[in-house]
Amino acid sequence: MPLRLLPFMSVIDRLATHYGEPPPPEVTEPFAMILWENVAYLANDAKRARAFAELLAKTGLTPAGIRKARASSLYAIAEKGILPDQTVQKLRRAAEIARDEFEDNLEPILDKPVAAAKRDLRKFPAIGEPAAEKILLFNRRLPALALDSNALRVLVRLGYTPEHKNYGTMYKAAQRTLAPQLPQDCDALIRAYQLLRRHGQDLCKRTSPACRDCHLRANCTFFCESVASRSF
Ligand code: SF4
Repeated sequence: MPLRLLPFMSVIDRLATHYGEPPPPEVTEPFAMILWENVAYLANDAKRARAFAELLAKTGLTPAGIRKARASSLYAIAEKGILPDQTVQKLRRAAEIARDEFEDNLEPILDKPVAAAKRDLRKFPAIGEPAAEKILLFNRRLPALALDSNALRVLVRLGYTPEHKNYGTMYKAAQRTLAPQLPQDCDALIRAYQLLRRHGQDLCKRTSPACRDCHLRANCTFFCESVASRSF
């Protein structure tokens, strides 16, 4: 018998029951969100948060503050992730783009038509389509199913969208497939972003997902196929 996929919002509600309701995002100002993406390359959330707090203390998270900061100070922060030299360059580059193209104020970008806003945001280092959509969603300008890699992995394993070697293709396919089920409500979609990400980090990890502890397993394609093949 084919697996019955749960309605998307039921998945989110079950995750909320398991993890609790997520608090509102702490960082929503667009330049600060760009810095969050760039501050510590490939660091986990705890290290990234420490780096971000240090960057706040040193620079105020402003483009001018980043430009004025000593390279050695930025390097010490960037060392929470790998390739700190490149991270310092990306932080500086972000501050220069903010100055040269947006007079150090990114707020007006949010009020542009969506395509233009995404185009502007994608000028910054490490900001692709998913990160641009996250910035617009968290600022309640775009009711889109923004997803980070943890969240997308969960949706693939559950069976809502097939795996694809091209990340961008897989991301768009997930959004397209789920579009009929999505609320046009930014708060609900922010909640979905946060809970899917949390699940991908805590239980549905990239390697060795903890399926035995997962309340979604009865409706999960990955789990059911693993059990069927006895390779789980
Ligand atoms: S059952 Fe396993 S693979 Fe499926 S969502 Fe839960 S943790 Fe992920």
